[in-house]
Amino acid sequence: MQVLVVGGAGYIGSHMVKQLSRAGHSVVVLDNLSTGFCELACYGELVVGDSADTALLESLFSKHKFDGVMHFAAASLVGESMQHPGKYYRNNVVNTLNLLEVMVRHEVNHFIFSSTAATFGEPVYVPIDEAHPQQPINPYGASKLMIERMLQDFYSAHGLSSVSLRYFNACGADPEGELGECHEPETHLIPLILQAASGRRESITVFGRDYATEDGTCIRDYIHIEDLCSAHALALEALVQGKKQGALAYNLGNGHGYSVQQMIDAVQRVVSEDGCSLIVEEGARRPGDPATLVADATLVKQELGWQPQYAMLDIIIRHAWAWEKRRNAWL
Ligand code: UDP
Repeated sequence: MQVLVVGGAGYIGSHMVKQLSRAGHSVVVLDNLSTGFCELACYGELVVGDSADTALLESLFSKHKFDGVMHFAAASLVGESMQHPGKYYRNNVVNTLNLLEVMVRHEVNHFIFSSTAATFGEPVYVPIDEAHPQQPINPYGASKLMIERMLQDFYSAHGLSSVSLRYFNACGADPEGELGECHEPETHLIPLILQAASGRRESITVFGRDYATEDGTCIRDYIHIEDLCSAHALALEALVQGKKQGALAYNLGNGHGYSVQQMIDAVQRVVSEDGCSLIVEEGARRPGDPATLVADATLVKQELGWQPQYAMLDIIIRHAWAWEKRRNAWL
């Protein structure tokens, strides 16, 4: 297949590009490098640019006959989205609309979309399945839900089939150690704990110990980046081979939750093998954090045949730790 990966120089996109390339597909990466890194775009052909640039998209789609598009480029910080909603509606909604319109003009009808558990908002029940109400509580989640809605309309009107994958907590790193998470600034739990362990930051702060969970810290469903990417590959294959059509959406997680404290304990176990340790501090709750978010991923398993290969927490942490050590050398 020939695949356009928009946002292919970011954390998730770069792992996806590697997986597609390793499977023998030809990949073009479009990334404006606003949060991506050209060092991560080491597979596929990198085009530096933005999906807001219609002329650039037109030329790319004229030059290549894409079988499908995978779209990872987005602004994705919940807190920032509350302060700068316009950035989120423009970057996420408007730019995706632009991309979809160019796809329609070029009759490229297969689209895999990076959606999020944030489209559900405050959980009404857990684990969260696809029937759970979608009531986002921040502009980030709202922007992603608007795109899911647009995708339904683009299927009805233009026959553009899509799969939206609603991620829970993407984590881990390339098992071969070549790629990993690089956010500036970093806000995600696992890299922050690992940075505290490697000495890149002084400590890790637990955001609240008074949640209604067993140890009082928030519970999340952490899914290894390789498993996340394998679901995208299966989704694209299903569309291209005509096994699936429509505007489909699946929740993507392991179906198992770990608390912040359990994550810290797991990191301590792994890094102690290298003689490292970390300082843990107590902090206030972070606004907008639900106590528990866990996916019910039954549907994606049933319909796409997806199976996670790296669900074990210690493996996730080991891969992320190997990357943290490599990145420290890289910086
Ligand atoms: N968290 C924390 N300290 C940090 C960063 C995150 O306690 O420095 C908690 C956060 O409150 C949440 C969990 O870790 O309960 C996962 O947060 P992350 O930002 O990684 O992902 P999110 O669940 O927000 O998508």
